[in-house]
Amino acid sequence: MYKILDDIDVSGKRVLVRADLNVPMQDGRITDTTRIDRTVPTLKELSDKGAKVIVLSHFGRPKGQRVPEMSLKPVAGALSETLGMPVAFGEDCVGGGAEAVINFMRPGDVAMLENLRFHAEETENDTIFAGLLAAQGDLYVSDAFSCSHRAHASTEAIAHHLPAVAGRLMQAELEALSGALDNPQHPVAAVVGGAKISTKLTVLGNLSKKVDQLIIGGGMANTFLNARGVDVGKSLCEHDMADQARAILDEAAAAGCEVVLPLDAVIAREFKEGADSETVGVDAVPSDAMILDAGPATVDDLNKRLAQCKTVVWNGPLGAFEIPPFDAATNAVAREAARLTRDGALLSVAGGGDTVAALAHAGADGDFSYISTAGGAFLEWLEGKDLPGVKVLRAD
Ligand code: AMP
Repeated sequence: MYKILDDIDVSGKRVLVRADLNVPMQDGRITDTTRIDRTVPTLKELSDKGAKVIVLSHFGRPKGQRVPEMSLKPVAGALSETLGMPVAFGEDCVGGGAEAVINFMRPGDVAMLENLRFHAEETENDTIFAGLLAAQGDLYVSDAFSCSHRAHASTEAIAHHLPAVAGRLMQAELEALSGALDNPQHPVAAVVGGAKISTKLTVLGNLSKKVDQLIIGGGMANTFLNARGVDVGKSLCEHDMADQARAILDEAAAAGCEVVLPLDAVIAREFKEGADSETVGVDAVPSDAMILDAGPATVDDLNKRLAQCKTVVWNGPLGAFEIPPFDAATNAVAREAARLTRDGALLSVAGGGDTVAALAHAGADGDFSYISTAGGAFLEWLEGKDLPGVKVLRAD
């Protein structure tokens, strides 16, 4: 178990909040404020409760150097706008540059410190550096699930110096993820799509032990079909991964997990928008064609399966969704998962890589129970890893 904001008294205390404000920026302008918006409830709650809220984050990869283009100052400005209150900015995350701001804070104030990664000790998980950070606060709140797969000074070592609790965003993420895989309602299906199995071998291995049905889509399904002796023509396929694919099929069978592969495929001879396409059974792909999406029989099969499930975990598209008409299967199955969720029949958790974009493209993102924007951390969690930044919240 881990502590949450309800378990601590923050009034008048200096609270260090590790957020992930590594927002996309172009020419000094923030192009997407999602990460700011998602952590604001934690910051606001702490401020309302009279804490002195000190926000820590990294930005980009300055590799231990002071890189002016990677300053968090513009992000502090954007945070101030979203919060509707001033946010003081400390020119450094430790030392005089931080003290100059922290020493003048009053209860309810919010300040943000400069990019943690201007110090190489941050990514080295350096204990002394973590001690310097920790000395600036009385409590530590982690709201950066998306950074918790990395053992860095501000995500791991710091929690050994201060009482550590999960912020609201971290809490929501952990609740959604554990509801989907640790203590789920069965039957549980995992939809794993995307380009290659080589990047998702551990994910597939872990899921095959936890879920009742492992639904494989996208380019990686071609690798499994090929491993079963099906000729996939010119499709994206990792021919050299056939043994690994067969090993996953065996592991799944031993664990009582059904592996579900496409029944039919939408094929084309060109990989471009509006290319001439047709639907064939997966065993009838011509040698000069490539599979770019799952076909309608597969969509029908998957929709029926989802209707029988109580929980679904989704990572990766079922086809080349960026290029219509090869988005059809992803759209249709994602919309069905969204509908079932809306009706209260399904708990749906999705995340990682292109998944957020694919579900948004399908217009299904609003209805999923939880969509994680934590790419790498979400995938490592799917792999069954104990993430260092989460582990320290559990240890007391
Ligand atoms: P990943 O990052 O591994 O989740 O892979 C996502 C990418 O896989 C997307 O860019 C899709 O366009 C691509 N993809 C999915 N299915 C196919 C397919 N059948 N052929 C080629 N690319 C695909």
